[in-house]
Amino acid sequence: AEMKAVNIHEGIDNTLLILQHRLKAKPDKSAIEIVKKYSDLPLVECYAGQLNQVFMNVLSNAIDALEDEREPISKPDKGLITIYTSIGEMKGNIKSVVIRIIDNGPGIPESLRSRICDPFFTTKPVGKGTGLGLSISYKIVVDKHGGIFNCESEPGLGTEFWIEIPIDQNSH
Ligand code: ADP
Ligand code: MG
Repeated sequence: AEMKAVNIHEGIDNTLLILQHRLKAKPDKSAIEIVKKYSDLPLVECYAGQLNQVFMNVLSNAIDALEDEREPISKPDKGLITIYTSIGEMKGNIKSVVIRIIDNGPGIPESLRSRICDPFFTTKPVGKGTGLGLSISYKIVVDKHGGIFNCESEPGLGTEFWIEIPIDQNSH
């Protein structure tokens, strides 16, 4: 595959379309709400298909987390995924785009956080998780694009994934 100039928001939006059926309300659960806080972004030189896979992995993990914990409709704090994009700058004056994907799910215990990007690490039941999504995402963002892939989580409050990609791949 070759790098091409890509509209990041298009990639995120297409991924959300594929996941749409998982956001809908169920008989005992309210729908998951998606809030997009997009900034104006330039096109980003990247492996588009791979980056879409990162969005898919992180967003489907967020949905898994919210499904786990989704409360009956009467509960006010319903499942929420907020997606922020912005322009950033990495070490060495390298211009970048930052995509933050934040859920208000159960969070990740501190004791597990260093392991979530390990291949085959999963807390999901057999057949539900392969434990590969985040390890592949880390490789794609960091190794293939020279970017940053980070996770912060507050147990009981939620989880944030920080994906940062250099805009111009010649620069790293
Ligand atoms: P899988 O989804 O197959 O379990 P991943 O590599 O995608 O594998 O994720 C590894 C683990 O990281 C998950 O099993 C889960 O414990 C944790 N995790 C990832 N994203 C979230 C999230 N948004 N909220 C809570 N836990 C998460
Ligand atoms: Mg996963």
